[in-house]
Amino acid sequence: MANPGYRDTPIIEGTSWHVHDGERPQPPTVTAGTESSAEVPGRPPSDAVVLFDGSDLSEWMDGDGGDARWDVMDGSMQVVPGTGDITSRQHMGDCQIHLEWAVPAEIKGESQGRGNSGVFVMDRYEIQVLDSYANPTYADGAVGGVYGQFPPMVIASRLPGHWQSYDIVWIAPRFDGVHLVSPACLSLFHNGVVVHHHRALLGPTGHRDVYHYVAHPPEAPLRLQDHGDLVRYRNIWFRPLDEES
Ligand code: MG
Repeated sequence: MANPGYRDTPIIEGTSWHVHDGERPQPPTVTAGTESSAEVPGRPPSDAVVLFDGSDLSEWMDGDGGDARWDVMDGSMQVVPGTGDITSRQHMGDCQIHLEWAVPAEIKGESQGRGNSGVFVMDRYEIQVLDSYANPTYADGAVGGVYGQFPPMVIASRLPGHWQSYDIVWIAPRFDGVHLVSPACLSLFHNGVVVHHHRALLGPTGHRDVYHYVAHPPEAPLRLQDHGDLVRYRNIWFRPLDEES
């Protein structure tokens, strides 16, 4: 049937569309991805930009813009301590990000010294990766925390060595020249559990300090942290979001 719907219905406030308007543009169709299992990473949705599919680090650079020097093994990448953080070649603004990570099965160290890495969205805003399984640390440094700002609502850790997931909905901060118009806003699921809901960030990540927003481009790369621990990642992708569409 062509254009099912109605034109004799009220206009939806804030739009030019009638309720059930048959002329309203259809949402695009994507092929949904698949869930990961413990052994096998899932498939991204069809419109995802894939940053790591288990085969190589071609989408990643080291801190000097050279090739990333982390290890790739068994479909995952692993931090090589001392080689530094790695940064995606792709840049992103508002987006959905999916990634999976695992801290070492062998428990070593404590507090911030156990299974520490991190996901720096837009190269600046860290979501902590940590082995928080029976590992007390300061609350705003726990797994899923916005480091130095907001603890996660709950700790949804799996056992060390097991794959865990982050699903991020990210709204980039807006700037007018050097002035902040609206802060970055984060929703985060850790292993499918909401740990941040529409959280407005205070600024970029600091250590033992508070940093205020400094204007930056509307798109920036994703960065993964080398904190000296043998953390692994797999199945990394993002989808740009356009709320206007
Ligand atoms: Mg970290």
